[in-house]
Amino acid sequence: MKIGFIGLGIMGKPMVRNLLKAGYEVTVYDIVAVNMDDAVQAGAYRGTSPANIAAGSDLVITMLPNSPHVKSVVLGENGVLTGAKSGLKYVDMSSIAPLASKEIGKACAEKGVRMLDAPVSGGEPKAVDGTLSIMAGGEQALFDEVKPVLECMGASVVLCGDIGAGNTTKLANQMIVAGNIAILAEALTLAKKAGVNPQTVFEAIQGGLAGSTVMQAKAPMMIASDFKPGFKIDLHIKDLNNAIATGHDIGSPLFLTTSVQEMFEMLHADGCGQDDHSGLAKYYAKISGT
Ligand code: NAD
Repeated sequence: MKIGFIGLGIMGKPMVRNLLKAGYEVTVYDIVAVNMDDAVQAGAYRGTSPANIAAGSDLVITMLPNSPHVKSVVLGENGVLTGAKSGLKYVDMSSIAPLASKEIGKACAEKGVRMLDAPVSGGEPKAVDGTLSIMAGGEQALFDEVKPVLECMGASVVLCGDIGAGNTTKLANQMIVAGNIAILAEALTLAKKAGVNPQTVFEAIQGGLAGSTVMQAKAPMMIASDFKPGFKIDLHIKDLNNAIATGHDIGSPLFLTTSVQEMFEMLHADGCGQDDHSGLAKYYAKISGT
């Protein structure tokens, strides 16, 4: 199976490396030419446009920031659908609005292209290890056909429902991560202000009920004030905005999500949008004077 991969950022680069390691022939494309260098050094071919990638592939994968990027790469001028032969398989692994996945899936189906949405969780370390959690939406038959490819990048690959269900699941994931990061920052700030070393608090509670994957990954970053991304605040704002829009659409309450989204927005306005999302601790440091 020839694979075309579009979007070679923090996540796309290691995901391509794992496809190459598994023996797949991969052609890559990114709007920023230098972002393709790593994949080409690892053995991928260099593509020239999404249409060119689609014309030479049996399966196209995209790993792009948000809905408008995916729409332009797939539906736009020189996009995937311009080059696609009928029968092309397409998997969008970006985290985008579920409604956008449905719209793109419909346009693909009209051209004989079958699509899954299959966003991921786990961040750069799990993308490197090939142990991402992959949550897919779409037809069972297509899922079964592409599952072996997804398993080169993920340890858990689950079909969650029809197209868009992968991104709905991802929104739930991002809401839970955002809430965890916020309460972690709030709690470590309280400890520091009360005169207890946050590192000691982390060591004392990480094995108890409050311990979590978020705590393991993010508490050390907060304690060291090391906010190199990782997962950028601006990308988390994008996910929470997609969750809030979806919640408004269907009438589902989002009290906590809205609060954390506002804290992230304040950090973005302060010039911290490219920091890791654990940088939410900066917000608490500022308002608590710690
Ligand atoms: P990134 O910004 O590092 O990479 C995005 C890449 O897409 C860049 O190389 C950019 O040049 C490219 N791109 C943008 N527009 C393009 C276009 N029109 N044509 C071709 N290439 C284009 O982002 P990332 O961190 O790799 O995240 C990608 C997706 O994965 C996002 O939806 C994000 O929410 C999701 N995600 C990220 C993480 C993480 O920890 N970084 C974890 C899980 C999911």
